[in-house]
Amino acid sequence: MSTLFRKIIDREIPADIVFEDELCMAFRDIHPQAPTHVLVIPKKEIPSLADARAEDQALLGHLLLTIRSLAVTLGLADGYRVVANCGAHGGQSVDHLHFHLLGGRHLGWPPG
Ligand code: 5GP
Repeated sequence: MSTLFRKIIDREIPADIVFEDELCMAFRDIHPQAPTHVLVIPKKEIPSLADARAEDQALLGHLLLTIRSLAVTLGLADGYRVVANCGAHGGQSVDHLHFHLLGGRHLGWPPG
Protein backbone atom coordinates (compact mmCIF):
# COMPACT_ATOMS: atom_id res chain seq x y z
CA MET A 1 0.00 0.00 0.00
CA SER A 2 1.21 3.47 -0.86
CA THR A 3 2.39 5.57 2.08
CA LEU A 4 2.16 9.28 2.59
CA PHE A 5 5.82 9.63 1.58
CA ARG A 6 5.20 7.82 -1.74
CA LYS A 7 2.55 10.44 -2.42
CA ILE A 8 5.07 13.20 -1.65
CA ILE A 9 7.59 11.60 -4.05
CA ASP A 10 4.87 11.44 -6.72
CA ARG A 11 3.82 15.06 -6.04
CA GLU A 12 0.33 13.98 -5.07
CA ILE A 13 0.83 15.71 -1.70
CA PRO A 14 2.72 19.01 -1.48
CA ALA A 15 5.92 19.26 0.54
CA ASP A 16 8.71 21.79 1.04
CA ILE A 17 11.34 19.84 -0.93
CA VAL A 18 14.92 20.91 -0.23
CA PHE A 19 16.73 18.28 -2.32
CA GLU A 20 15.98 15.54 -4.83
CA ASP A 21 17.96 13.22 -7.06
CA GLU A 22 17.25 9.92 -8.79
CA LEU A 23 17.56 7.93 -5.55
CA CYS A 24 16.21 10.11 -2.79
CA MET A 25 14.27 13.14 -1.69
CA ALA A 26 14.56 15.53 1.26
CA PHE A 27 11.72 17.73 2.49
CA ARG A 28 10.89 19.71 5.63
CA ASP A 29 8.96 17.92 8.37
CA ILE A 30 5.40 19.22 8.72
CA HIS A 31 5.78 19.28 12.54
CA PRO A 32 9.37 20.50 13.02
CA GLN A 33 11.06 19.58 16.30
CA ALA A 34 13.99 21.93 15.73
CA PRO A 35 14.63 25.10 13.66
CA THR A 36 15.86 22.77 10.90
CA HIS A 37 13.99 19.47 10.63
CA VAL A 38 14.26 17.69 7.30
CA LEU A 39 13.25 14.15 6.36
CA VAL A 40 15.51 12.29 3.94
CA ILE A 41 13.91 9.31 2.23
CA PRO A 42 14.83 6.83 -0.48
CA LYS A 43 12.54 6.73 -3.50
CA LYS A 44 12.67 2.95 -3.19
CA GLU A 45 9.89 1.79 -0.89
CA ILE A 46 11.71 0.24 2.09
CA PRO A 47 9.30 0.22 5.06
CA SER A 48 11.94 0.68 7.76
CA LEU A 49 15.62 0.21 8.53
CA ALA A 50 14.71 -3.31 9.71
CA ASP A 51 13.62 -4.10 6.14
CA ALA A 52 16.82 -2.90 4.47
CA ARG A 53 18.87 -5.62 2.79
CA ALA A 54 22.46 -6.10 1.68
CA GLU A 55 21.42 -4.97 -1.81
CA ASP A 56 20.50 -1.58 -0.25
CA GLN A 57 24.02 -0.94 1.02
CA ALA A 58 24.91 1.66 -1.60
CA LEU A 59 21.52 3.35 -1.26
CA LEU A 60 21.91 3.65 2.53
CA GLY A 61 25.37 5.14 2.06
CA HIS A 62 23.94 7.57 -0.46
CA LEU A 63 21.28 8.68 2.00
CA LEU A 64 23.85 9.36 4.73
CA LEU A 65 26.17 11.27 2.39
CA THR A 66 23.16 13.26 1.17
CA ILE A 67 22.38 14.14 4.79
CA ARG A 68 25.99 15.22 5.27
CA SER A 69 25.78 17.53 2.23
CA LEU A 70 22.39 18.90 3.30
CA ALA A 71 23.77 19.73 6.74
CA VAL A 72 26.33 21.94 5.01
CA THR A 73 23.88 23.63 2.62
CA LEU A 74 21.32 24.14 5.43
CA GLY A 75 23.97 25.84 7.57
CA LEU A 76 24.21 23.35 10.41
CA ALA A 77 27.86 24.14 11.11
CA ASP A 78 27.35 23.86 14.88
CA GLY A 79 26.21 20.25 14.60
CA TYR A 80 23.08 18.25 14.05
CA ARG A 81 21.38 14.95 14.81
CA VAL A 82 20.33 12.15 12.46
CA VAL A 83 17.53 9.87 13.67
CA ALA A 84 15.85 6.84 12.15
CA ASN A 85 12.86 5.72 14.21
CA CYS A 86 12.24 2.03 13.60
CA GLY A 87 9.10 0.09 14.47
CA ALA A 88 6.63 0.54 17.30
CA HIS A 89 9.15 0.94 20.15
CA GLY A 90 11.23 3.28 18.01
CA GLY A 91 8.22 5.53 17.49
CA GLN A 92 8.02 5.14 13.73
CA SER A 93 4.74 6.52 12.38
CA VAL A 94 5.25 6.40 8.60
CA ASP A 95 6.20 3.01 7.12
CA HIS A 96 8.63 4.34 4.52
CA LEU A 97 12.27 4.48 5.64
CA HIS A 98 13.29 8.01 6.56
CA PHE A 99 16.08 9.78 8.38
CA HIS A 100 15.32 12.88 10.42
CA LEU A 101 17.96 15.61 10.11
CA LEU A 102 17.59 17.94 13.08
CA GLY A 103 19.59 21.05 13.87
CA GLY A 104 19.60 24.75 14.65
CA ARG A 105 19.43 24.34 18.43
CA HIS A 106 21.13 22.32 21.15
CA LEU A 107 19.46 18.91 21.26
CA GLY A 108 19.10 17.13 24.58
CA TRP A 109 20.10 13.57 25.37
CA PRO A 110 18.85 10.96 26.10
CA PRO A 111 15.74 11.00 23.89
CA GLY A 112 12.36 10.19 25.48
P1 5GP B 1 8.42 9.00 12.29
O1 5GP B 1 7.53 9.32 13.46
O2 5GP B 1 7.82 7.90 11.43
O3 5GP B 1 9.84 8.77 12.64
O4 5GP B 1 8.46 10.31 11.42
C1 5GP B 1 7.45 10.68 10.53
C2 5GP B 1 7.53 12.17 10.37
O5 5GP B 1 6.72 12.54 9.27
C3 5GP B 1 7.01 12.96 11.58
O6 5GP B 1 8.06 13.75 12.11
C4 5GP B 1 5.88 13.79 11.01
O7 5GP B 1 5.82 15.09 11.54
C5 5GP B 1 6.18 13.80 9.52
N1 5GP B 1 5.01 13.96 8.68
C6 5GP B 1 3.83 13.33 8.83
N2 5GP B 1 2.98 13.71 7.86
C7 5GP B 1 3.65 14.59 7.08
C8 5GP B 1 3.30 15.31 5.89
O8 5GP B 1 2.20 15.24 5.35
N3 5GP B 1 4.26 16.12 5.36
C9 5GP B 1 5.50 16.23 5.92
N4 5GP B 1 6.36 17.06 5.32
N5 5GP B 1 5.86 15.55 7.02
C10 5GP B 1 4.95 14.74 7.59
